[in-house]
Amino acid sequence: MILVTGGAGYIGSHAVVALLQAGQEVVVLDNLCNSSRESLTRVAQIAGRAPRFVHGDIRDRVLLDELFQQWPITAVMHFAGLKAVGESVRDPLRYYQTNVAGSITLCQAMADAGIFQLVFSSSATVYGESVSMPICERCPTGIPTNPYGQSKLMAENVLKTLADSDHRWSIALLRYFNPVGAHESGLIGEDPNGIPNNLLPYMLQVAVGRRPYLNVYGDDYPTPDGTGVRDYIHVLDLVDGHLRALERLALGGGVAVWNLGTGRGCSVLEMVRALEGVTGRALPFRVVARRSGDIAQCWADPTKAERELRWRATRDLRAMLEDAWRWQRLNPHGYQGDVEKAAAALAS
Ligand code: NAD
Ligand code: UDP
Repeated sequence: MILVTGGAGYIGSHAVVALLQAGQEVVVLDNLCNSSRESLTRVAQIAGRAPRFVHGDIRDRVLLDELFQQWPITAVMHFAGLKAVGESVRDPLRYYQTNVAGSITLCQAMADAGIFQLVFSSSATVYGESVSMPICERCPTGIPTNPYGQSKLMAENVLKTLADSDHRWSIALLRYFNPVGAHESGLIGEDPNGIPNNLLPYMLQVAVGRRPYLNVYGDDYPTPDGTGVRDYIHVLDLVDGHLRALERLALGGGVAVWNLGTGRGCSVLEMVRALEGVTGRALPFRVVARRSGDIAQCWADPTKAERELRWRATRDLRAMLEDAWRWQRLNPHGYQGDVEKAAAALAS
């Protein structure tokens, strides 16, 4: 049985579907601070069976101990965390407490329960402003420009020293590039709270008419069209990488870092044109000043994961945008809306 922390969230819910479909038993621990119970109802609809669900916090040691006693858990996929960069600047302690201290509490409870396999959600943000592209795992980590990024780097360092201190640990640090897209069913996807911070969720809300235009943050970067370049990866490819990492952990072996990206960079304007191609509608945008803390470009060298995990992202940008668009049209108000009504309205 696999414990999935943060399993009601965007990436976690897709991972739970994949685990259930692979025949695993799953228990989800989530405090629902950035997600809803509805996502797991939809997960059950897709997978044909439901994961166990525990409503609670990764910082609650007593609850963790009960959970590890109650279920025959052998490994943990640890998605639970806070991820809003701007909020992390305003409230850094909350970020360190959840992302760093929460991960420590989880590991302490795991060790006491004799569970030593952990897949950790890290981020390409730990590389900071890397000078040469693509970024491979040997590239030095940088100085993340915000407390969110710092918290991921701190958690990585905690996990590295932990694995060095006790060879029973087997830990995968997965550095995600830019996860986008949704399950092909359109039943689960990203449901941001308030004004989206990330590019694609914002573009999708413009495309459905919830926002008038996209702000393109700067067109004077040293990139081919002047706009920021990122490595967008389909969430289903990302999740496949987790399943491969989990298999690999069962073989033992300390701590390993793997980039999960496609190896291809895409600019903001390329994203705009590609989404217009998928929706068949013009996407209004205006160019504004650069967003502070943004880097010009960032894309992965994914060959280490290809070699060691036999994993490679297979879905192209069109698939990412088509799947994201399907989710957005069926759920214009995220999990608050009624997907059946939306589907009927779209069909008529
Ligand atoms: P998400 O917010 O959709 O999911 C995180 C889940 O964790 C939510 O369901 C939330 O309710 C839960 N949670 C938060 N704090 C908790 C706590 N203290 N106890 C229990 N549950 C808690 O985010 P996501 O996009 O699915 O991201 C998952 C992980 O991947 C996060 O750790 C995030 O930092 C990391 N990550 C995400 C991205 C991205 O672009 N989405 C990129 C790199 C890394
Ligand atoms: N971006 C933008 N408008 C937005 C949100 C993002 O132009 O409303 C740009 C941003 O400057 C960056 C790219 O889109 O070049 C990806 O931003 P996102 O926040 O999604 O990812 P991150 O910067 O964290 O990699």
